[in-house]
Amino acid sequence: MNKEPFVTYEQLKEITEQFPTPFHLYDEKGIRENAQAVKEAFSWNQGYREYFAVKAEPNPFIMNILKEYGCGCDCSSMTELMLSDALGIRGEDIMFSSNETPPEEFRFADKLGAIINLDDITHIDFLEQTIGKIPETISCRYNPGGVYEVSNGIMDNPQDAKYGFTKEQLFEGYKLLKQKGAKRFGLHSFLVSNTVTNDYYPTLAKTLFELAVEIKEKLGITISFINLSGGVGVAYRPQEKPNDIRVIGEGVHKVFDEVLVPAGLGDTAIYTEMGRFMTGPYGCLVTKAVHEKHTYKEYIGVDACAANLMRPAMYGAYHHITVMGKEHAPCDHKYDIVGSLCENNDKFAVDRMLPEIETGDLLVIHDTGAHGFAMGYNYNGRLWSAEVLLKEDGTTQLIRRAQTPKDYFATFDCFDILKNMNYNGV
Ligand SMILES: *Cc1c(COP(=O)(O)O)cnc(C)c1O
Repeated sequence: MNKEPFVTYEQLKEITEQFPTPFHLYDEKGIRENAQAVKEAFSWNQGYREYFAVKAEPNPFIMNILKEYGCGCDCSSMTELMLSDALGIRGEDIMFSSNETPPEEFRFADKLGAIINLDDITHIDFLEQTIGKIPETISCRYNPGGVYEVSNGIMDNPQDAKYGFTKEQLFEGYKLLKQKGAKRFGLHSFLVSNTVTNDYYPTLAKTLFELAVEIKEKLGITISFINLSGGVGVAYRPQEKPNDIRVIGEGVHKVFDEVLVPAGLGDTAIYTEMGRFMTGPYGCLVTKAVHEKHTYKEYIGVDACAANLMRPAMYGAYHHITVMGKEHAPCDHKYDIVGSLCENNDKFAVDRMLPEIETGDLLVIHDTGAHGFAMGYNYNGRLWSAEVLLKEDGTTQLIRRAQTPKDYFATFDCFDILKNMNYNGV
């Protein structure tokens, strides 16, 4: 399949006159259409709710768009909670799915009235000691251990993952929570990341639905909501078939009717905490070729680097690249597309077949809308890029300015000689 950018070369030339490269560009239309499709796919479930995983793209403009479609926020840190709070997303509109949680974050989550999703059985006592009670609504994260396999061989190793309660701990935990006054219970699990199959959610749902039935039978505790969490993936590679959220929603519906309804649990609300699927394909990193280098390999040096998009360097992740204006030119050149970090894994692509690239060409690195900008860092003193929203009417809006040297040095306010630093010209 051909992977096309959501922006045309003509549009992008105009945009780059206003905003210097590199920057992340987001497609408002795509985000809206997808959010609507997610809502419709689960509309069969009365209590359905998507809690957008804020860590994927912690930008208030994007979060506000998703809020219009009824999305809450899935937070896991103090600043993510603060961001949600600032946007008026509070109470049970927040799912606090954290781990190794500092006490002050539990306190703040409780103050906001967030649903707290516990990662471990020891956190029951920790939470009670920290906030002086167990909230009436509480959720637990389950880790079944072993190897978890979905269709077409996609699998992961929950037994090696740091998250969640074992099954025994889960039963123990719900009993304890009930004794301590909890009244409304949730069950959560996140087993496989970036699944490109319509079967992941339905397979996970079956596991969790059967567990909810067992919990009801053995403990007399009714699970009110089941949180399928994240993990619905994105077709990063052109040959991958994108997930179809309608098929996924129907797949979950089918097991819901098979497992929960006959057990008298037809009132159970389904929650999701998708990040990648909500924004991943609707963002791209726009960068410019600034150097070409011919040594033992052919290199194109661009003005973005792994500090703007860490996934290729960190996981060897594939991100498709389009050379703008050469969309239909033959891919007859083999390049490493590299950034400027003094770090040899700073490569957006290795041995990638692309059209011939000249200095000054604009490159679009696809699917950076989730876990892209958000994973940015400042190694080598490289600064964060801007984020720009391509609106439905074709105009653009700056939704985060680029970091400046002044921002970068701001935390040295304890170091007197930097106070007089001269920022002229930057
Ligand atoms: C990262 C994360 C998500 C979102 O995952 P995606 O793969 O982006 O959908 C959801 N819930 C929790 C607890 C997470 O840590």
